[in-house]
Amino acid sequence: MADNQHSCEIAPGIFLIKVPLPENPLKQLNSYLILDEDRPALVDVGFNRIECEQVLRRALDDFGLDFQDIDVLATHSHPDHVGNLDRIWRPSMRVYAHMHSFEEPRIMNKLQSSTFLPIVDAVTLCAESQRQPSRVFSTDLSAVKGDYPVTYLKDGDIFRRGNYRFQVIETPGHHMTHICLYDEASKIMLTGDHVLERITPNISSFMLETDELGDFLASLRKVRDYDVKLALPGHGEPFSGLARRVDELIAHHKARLTEMEDLVRAGHHDIIDITSSASWKYPNWESWAMEQKFFSLGETLAHLVHAVHCGTIRMIIEGEVVEFYLAE
Ligand SMILES: [Zn+2]
Ligand SMILES: [Zn+2]
Repeated sequence: MADNQHSCEIAPGIFLIKVPLPENPLKQLNSYLILDEDRPALVDVGFNRIECEQVLRRALDDFGLDFQDIDVLATHSHPDHVGNLDRIWRPSMRVYAHMHSFEEPRIMNKLQSSTFLPIVDAVTLCAESQRQPSRVFSTDLSAVKGDYPVTYLKDGDIFRRGNYRFQVIETPGHHMTHICLYDEASKIMLTGDHVLERITPNISSFMLETDELGDFLASLRKVRDYDVKLALPGHGEPFSGLARRVDELIAHHKARLTEMEDLVRAGHHDIIDITSSASWKYPNWESWAMEQKFFSLGETLAHLVHAVHCGTIRMIIEGEVVEFYLAE
């Protein structure tokens, strides 16, 4: 295993590049360079930020490569994974991604805004006493600005690079476009943000109609029993023990669903009341930054919507007011 100046060989011919994510609690993105005699590929590329572009450029330079010499594969179309395409895309570059990666999230973001903007407004009102509440999420949420020709990947497709023959596994939940990639010979799985070693992947719903948590749990079960020696995640360290980690994540969400039901049973019915009363890693929800509040609301809603789909909680909509009650 060789260490280059700006990347680290974590499997034969696969180099990990730690891409900084400025002003983001995740801190770093793992970009994976898969060498190939013809077209090396980068898996995930970071934000649309100069810092992300520079780190990738330096890492490629160690191999005598430039952006025009490589292809890009996206595990999903969140801005920390594909935003940098707006900087590094070249006409010779092939972009591989799930077939719903770019246009549909744009439409979904627009549809979701009808649900989440009233929530953001309500949180902003709650936070009146805080310094300058801002509607940070009312702006453009698109992961990329440009329109790139994309080679679409779907369940069962094969992505070959170097000595690897990665099978595409669709894993919606964290994002509707999420895919994992599995190479049977080396037992390596690129897990993107679907399974991370320590971090619990963010599962948010902002549409009452779509059960993102239900999708996520099904996608966890889908990858659990693959024979994986090394999981290469989008953030944090590469790890082994995929099944154990999947079981932990499923247990976490089951406990969270029970907590949500208990809160509803105890008389908390609207989304802000339930979210602010739930247990979180950091205390004092009222004092959180707007952005963190927003993510916690999305996560709470994902659990409530899943409980509605499972039939344990019912949702009552009266005009703009949405409330949750126990089903019995
Ligand atoms: Zn993500
Ligand atoms: Zn990510």
